Amino acid sequence: MKTIGLIGGMSWESTIPYYKVINEYVGKELGGFHSAKILLYSVDFAELEENMSKGQWDRNAALLSDAAVRLEKAGADVILICTNTMHKLFFDVQDRVSVPLIHIALATADALDRDGIGKVALLGTKYTMTEDFYKERLKEQGFEVLIPDEADMQIVHDVIFDELCHGIIKEESRREYSRIIAALKEKGAEAVILGCTEIGLLITPEDSVLPTYDTTVIHAESAARFALQ
Ligand code: GLU
Repeated sequence: MKTIGLIGGMSWESTIPYYKVINEYVGKELGGFHSAKILLYSVDFAELEENMSKGQWDRNAALLSDAAVRLEKAGADVILICTNTMHKLFFDVQDRVSVPLIHIALATADALDRDGIGKVALLGTKYTMTEDFYKERLKEQGFEVLIPDEADMQIVHDVIFDELCHGIIKEESRREYSRIIAALKEKGAEAVILGCTEIGLLITPEDSVLPTYDTTVIHAESAARFALQ
């Protein structure tokens, strides 16, 4: 079995499900007492959040690359950046290590493709929803990507940073997300990408009129599959 390196802590609330999903997958595949070989480098999210809000992405690239190098030195065979937003820096980090990184959007594109989805809604931070680094990866794979209108985008973003990253789950935010997903269905979306690793803490398939693609689960399972190959 290969060793999985996780760059987590962005936020730590969403790194917990990675650990659980990967171990559950390996346990199911191998049975008995089997569990995954995992190395975790968990960052201080305050530093990255501050850099991000000041637009100092080069500093985050340096922090994440340093984490990746440490994980590789410690024996990781594959590395995951456990957040969608920081995939803006995917290639900066990949360039610094020789082991592969699994791209969260490409793993999600594979899952959508398997299910024959063409037009997909995307929820995430404003960086993920508005910038090209994420949507382009999906478009290159042939998907049409729909995002909420300006006001709803702000709600989705604020709930992530003001609530979910602090472990706060509010019923009213769940209702807002459900409403926003329904509006994107009206615009023609066939499925919704939970494109932020905390959204799965708020939204279950029952809360959504569209089939949900939880990037945390998809990313974690693709690492587990890789480890068992
Ligand atoms: N975990 C979130 C994501 O998947 C947001 C936190 C971050 O900016 O990294 O995008």
